[in-house]
Amino acid sequence: MPPKTTRKAKAGAILSGISRAGPGKVDIGSMVPQVTPSVTFEPILFQKDRQSGQERVDAEPTPSFTASSDIVGMYCHFCCEATQPGYRYQCIECGALMCEQTVQKSKGCIYLGSVENKDDFLCTVCFRTSDKKDQPLPYAYIGFGQRKKVKMAWPMAVVNLNLESMKDDYLATTVKIELENHYRMHPHNLFIQTLRMRGAAHLSESRKLSDGLKFMRSNVGRGFPPNTFIVVDTHSDEFTGMLQHTGGHTGGTNTTITEIIEAYLGTEFLKCMGEASDAARTDNSTFTTAKSTKPWCDLTSRARGGWRGLLLVSCGPAMRVSHHFESVLKLVKSNQFEVIVGFGGSGTLPSMVSHTVRSFVVDTGVFGRTDPWSAICHMLTSNHDVLDYTTAVVVYATAVNGCRQIECRQIAKDAPGLRAFGYEFRSCGKPGCNPVPADLRVFNQKERVRVRCLKCGWRSAWARTDKDNKHFKRVNALAAPQLFWHHFPPSADLQNFFVDLTERQNAIAAQSAQISRKRGGESKRKKTLQKFKNRQQDAEMLDLTGSHHSPAMDVDE
Ligand SMILES: [Zn+2]
Ligand SMILES: [Zn+2]
Ligand SMILES: [Zn+2]
Repeated sequence: MPPKTTRKAKAGAILSGISRAGPGKVDIGSMVPQVTPSVTFEPILFQKDRQSGQERVDAEPTPSFTASSDIVGMYCHFCCEATQPGYRYQCIECGALMCEQTVQKSKGCIYLGSVENKDDFLCTVCFRTSDKKDQPLPYAYIGFGQRKKVKMAWPMAVVNLNLESMKDDYLATTVKIELENHYRMHPHNLFIQTLRMRGAAHLSESRKLSDGLKFMRSNVGRGFPPNTFIVVDTHSDEFTGMLQHTGGHTGGTNTTITEIIEAYLGTEFLKCMGEASDAARTDNSTFTTAKSTKPWCDLTSRARGGWRGLLLVSCGPAMRVSHHFESVLKLVKSNQFEVIVGFGGSGTLPSMVSHTVRSFVVDTGVFGRTDPWSAICHMLTSNHDVLDYTTAVVVYATAVNGCRQIECRQIAKDAPGLRAFGYEFRSCGKPGCNPVPADLRVFNQKERVRVRCLKCGWRSAWARTDKDNKHFKRVNALAAPQLFWHHFPPSADLQNFFVDLTERQNAIAAQSAQISRKRGGESKRKKTLQKFKNRQQDAEMLDLTGSHHSPAMDVDE
């Protein structure tokens, strides 16, 4: 084992960004798995503290605002790992918790035993923004994490509603495994139940939720109103979008999501969900840091608890058919759920969407990203493979000036040659022409896109895909410029996007042609200038048509 050094990270190294500026020399050996000899297993600090007759645990200043720590766990605000008593520090300025290694070369954000001042501890962010910002950190920060989110094992109830004929329960199983992993230190804070939908089974199945009712009520009583997530995995009818719930491959598909939720969860459970939500929304507790300032993040039950989400996975157009969508909308309007995430593709296999479903539940329930829109945008920005197959439809409630409002949005991926702005256009600019979606071909040229009707030969004007427009906005212009969202269900105005664009551009062209005809007797100098400009534009066009954006793409010039 290398001798313990007391050197701190160099100021220069720290100033160059959050770096792995650990003390000591670069040790190539640490890049490979370390076999720690058994004699050195005991943490150095334990040894030292024992010599001085002091227990390490006593040395910890009690975190001031996380009184609930023993119930929902104390996780490092930088690396999200569980912290151990005696090896965690709370920033006096912002309240952030930071973890220290318990064994040298183990995981942890602070190098073992390098904290000098345990009482006036400042996290890296607060230290670097304080008046001491040019001094070296009073401890060695070796973490990679940033202060972005706080993990909490907040009580959570998850109900998987599966069609019985789906034997493998793929989606339910992946959700369960992921959550059990996050709650492994606090398993009693997780209630997870899978209900099977089959003919006339809703009464016997909903009885399985009796433990869930106890779980909900006891946690509301303790002041930790649980978050509830319902994951529905079933088939839906190809034409009506109605959901199948009676099992078997030939079972009837005649039920809306509202009816299924009411039948299988039961009024009692739905009432409990509502109570948890009310308890959280009316909570008015506040936390303050050691300096009596506002903590950097909101850890109250108002922010973290009582959220209700429904994730609707069904092969078939459950979201796209209007009368079924009405039923989805009703669940949010009647305040049974805060957010519903569905998928807009006509075929949505659980294996394609399972990552999105699990991440949404974990991001919201464990990491406290409780603004549904920002949660879904963040999630799809970092992993948008799912949008190669389908679109995500989000229905959620927001408060605008204290008023509850419902937003419905669809997020889709712009696919060159396939779907402009991720949308399937079907309106042609020629009066009387009624093309099917397959008739409207999409052509891309660099950052521009146009559609052409194969039925009548109509061509639209070019639209830009690197900018937001009236209907289609980018989800994240920098990190995922190909993702666009639009209001859902799409308005007639949106469906006519290319037709309107073409008409507007034609009108502008006609107007300028008229103006130039009027100015027939212009001076020779201006004419030469215009000629020059035209030539320049032609050259640009040649350049555009000559360079194919992608070899696989058609250019209709
Ligand atoms: Zn940490
Ligand atoms: Zn801080
Ligand atoms: Zn046409």
